Amino acid sequence: MSADIIIVGAGIVGLSSAHELVGKGARVTVLDRGKPGMEASWAGGGILFPLLPWDYLDEVTSLAFLSMALYPEWTEALQHSSGVDPEYMKCGMTVLPGIRSMEKASSWCASHGVRFLEEPGGKFVLPDVAQVRNPRLIRALSRALENLGVTILQDCEAVSFERKNGNIVGVRTAQGDVHSGQDYVVCAGAWSGMLLGPDGPDIYPVKGQMLLFEAGGLLDTILFKDGIYLVPRKDGHILAGSTLEHAGFDKTVTSAHWLHEKAAEILPALGHLSPVKQWAGLRPGSPDNIPTICRHPAIGNLYINSGHFRYGVTMAPASAKLLSSLIFGETSLLDIDPYNCKK
Ligand SMILES: Cc1cc2nc3c(=O)[nH]c(=O)nc-3n(C[C@H](O)[C@H](O)[C@H](O)COP(=O)(O)OP(=O)(O)OC[C@H]3O[C@@H](n4cnc5c(N)ncnc54)[C@H](O)[C@@H]3O)c2cc1C
Repeated sequence: MSADIIIVGAGIVGLSSAHELVGKGARVTVLDRGKPGMEASWAGGGILFPLLPWDYLDEVTSLAFLSMALYPEWTEALQHSSGVDPEYMKCGMTVLPGIRSMEKASSWCASHGVRFLEEPGGKFVLPDVAQVRNPRLIRALSRALENLGVTILQDCEAVSFERKNGNIVGVRTAQGDVHSGQDYVVCAGAWSGMLLGPDGPDIYPVKGQMLLFEAGGLLDTILFKDGIYLVPRKDGHILAGSTLEHAGFDKTVTSAHWLHEKAAEILPALGHLSPVKQWAGLRPGSPDNIPTICRHPAIGNLYINSGHFRYGVTMAPASAKLLSSLIFGETSLLDIDPYNCKK
């Protein structure tokens, strides 16, 4: 197998990186320990917006907002080339009473050009917040990549990197050694820290539990209150999430009852329904939610695009553009320094 660039990890970040790089003419192979997009990228809510942006540093919001601006055209192009609709939808979000400082929220939105409405009773409405349906976005991306000639190797765990003279010369995998003519990129989500070892960035698993309800017509906008959100899907399902837990790599569902109660406090009708599905995913946690998008500090041909924590779906297309500008030595759409490898 020959490729210019090998990407380890076929989550939303690895797949969107592949899509951007192949668009620039690179020959790309992506390898994954399991099936593409079945970890955090499958488990997430698909909300394309930081919760809540005024509580984050500029490094988080500038990358998220650049990505949010790319989403409509990107998902349309993916749908066109794959035949799969990622269900990008501007459904808006209502933040229910409980915001610590309404004044901070409204002045942040006003100064960042984000439309908002303050409704009686303390509701804060953000009409332009959008969402995608994660499994559909992954399917659209995977098919689009296959159509572009990208190889996605499944069940192919990267065990270690083979190094020579300060560069990587191959990846040892469960299916034998895989070599690239040029560069390697780690997009292994919550496992990136483990794979890169002590020289790598601080990336660790943060568990999030979710519930799914069949609740046709009950809701047409995202509701958010005290850290819990409800996301209505196009087909009437409602997602309720999520927890934020430091529990290592354990994905056991333990908080379904608690989450159900919280969901019913927001939308009482959910109290009469039983969830049709429940699961947990592992976010690639990072300090202050700032992802690492950089060349490895000690290895010339190794790049990292990981650690997007709570907003990897939101940030994926813009992060892919930043990575590609690094690899191809082009001017980046954003100052890339804040995304350097931090310890
Ligand atoms: C419950 C929950 C809710 C969320 N809600 C949202 C939301 O509403 N909006 C939003 O923007 N984000 C949300 N997120 C965050 C978002 O899902 C993640 O930030 C994003 O999916 C990270 O993508 P990734 O590709 O880096 O990681 P992943 O999707 O985890 O992909 C990493 C891939 O690397 C593979 N891998 C790991 N190690 C190896 C190895 N050694 N060799 C080969 N392959 C390997 C894995 O198998 C996996 O497929 C949520 C996450 C969770 C868990």
